[in-house]
Amino acid sequence: MAEKTIYYSNEEITVAWKPALCIHSGNCVRGLGKVFDPGRKSWIDMSQADSAQIVAQVKKCPSGALSISEKKPA
Ligand code: SF4
Repeated sequence: MAEKTIYYSNEEITVAWKPALCIHSGNCVRGLGKVFDPGRKSWIDMSQADSAQIVAQVKKCPSGALSISEKKPA
């Protein structure tokens, strides 16, 4: 089965999230809860922090579920 990836972009970067890899550690929610909010319909809101903060938090994801994607998806 193909691994599902969901993309979230701001003007500068795109975050890729692979739900199948997420181990629900909650690191992202604890570290940057305004951006990563599982209770919101679109759980990642790229407008809630600047790109540097988002990149720093994405790097702390222990499972690799979150990553920074260079290209915006078509
Ligand atoms: S830090 Fe990564 S593994 Fe943990 S909840 Fe967030 S996306 Fe999932």
